Amino acid sequence: MLTNGQYEEFMRIYASRRDRNARLLKQRREEVVSCIPAFRDLEEMSGRVALNALRQQLKPDTGDPGDSGTMSARNELERIRIKKREVLTENGYPADYLDPVYDCPDCRDTGFIDTGRGRTKCHCFRQMELGILYDHSRLSLLIKTNNFDLLREDYYEGESLLLFRNALSNCRTFLDTFDEAAPNLLFYGPTGTGKSFLSICTAGEILKRGKTVLYFSAADVLEKISGYAQNAEEKQQIQDLMKELSETELLVLDDLGTEINNSFISSRLFTIINERILKGLSTVISTNLPLDELRSRYSDRVFSRITSNYLVCKLTGPDIRMSKIIRK
Ligand SMILES: [Zn+2]
Repeated sequence: MLTNGQYEEFMRIYASRRDRNARLLKQRREEVVSCIPAFRDLEEMSGRVALNALRQQLKPDTGDPGDSGTMSARNELERIRIKKREVLTENGYPADYLDPVYDCPDCRDTGFIDTGRGRTKCHCFRQMELGILYDHSRLSLLIKTNNFDLLREDYYEGESLLLFRNALSNCRTFLDTFDEAAPNLLFYGPTGTGKSFLSICTAGEILKRGKTVLYFSAADVLEKISGYAQNAEEKQQIQDLMKELSETELLVLDDLGTEINNSFISSRLFTIINERILKGLSTVISTNLPLDELRSRYSDRVFSRITSNYLVCKLTGPDIRMSKIIRK
């Protein structure tokens, strides 16, 4: 739950986005009006049409209850609106150059979407909320240095290269089928072979689509939800976190296997994995553990959920982080 202060901070962020975008639109308009005389003429024309229509409406006895004057004014304004777009493109601007600008068109930078039966939080609001609750900013930082634009194949050779390409092709399948099939990904292999890199790249692409994404070190999150709650507040925090883990549209668990090993943690992991499969929500897991160790450590049921529902990608090769240092 957000505190009142956090909620107000969000509202300030949205207000400043709206201000910034309104200023940008105003600048664009001034620029176009001053550079394109034909556009200025159309602006003046639409001003006159709107004003005349208003005058007509305010006249006491027009004898025109059918609003035909208003209708024709509306048609005229629509004609001018289309003409303005043409003038923009003729002068090398995009047709929508003077449309309202939004960081998030879905909620028009308000944070909320009107569903007709009330308003719900927009995905952009939910993502900020997750950011506050779980230090999510780390993911946005990680995406800057881990994204598909920075992909390099030349750290791999021979069989490692084939495995890497196979993993990439699985990432593509994951991204292409995310909405309809809720795919899952498992990356496994030794340290420094690109597992976290691919997990973060994939998460970044999903984040760009406006989905809610949670990225955790598996050790952090599993130890947190399996920890002993000292008081009611901590208990509530654990419950909230469990709820987020079973609701976020994409969950990334990085470096599974580095957490404390006990049966309670293993059963928590099963709950998360299983619930997400049942709900049709995607999960990405990376681990240094070989598959047989994954099985012996987390039980057969965890193992079978993963192998039958995940695109499994093995990665091998020399430690990329080491090679990067050596090749510098
Ligand atoms: Zn939004």
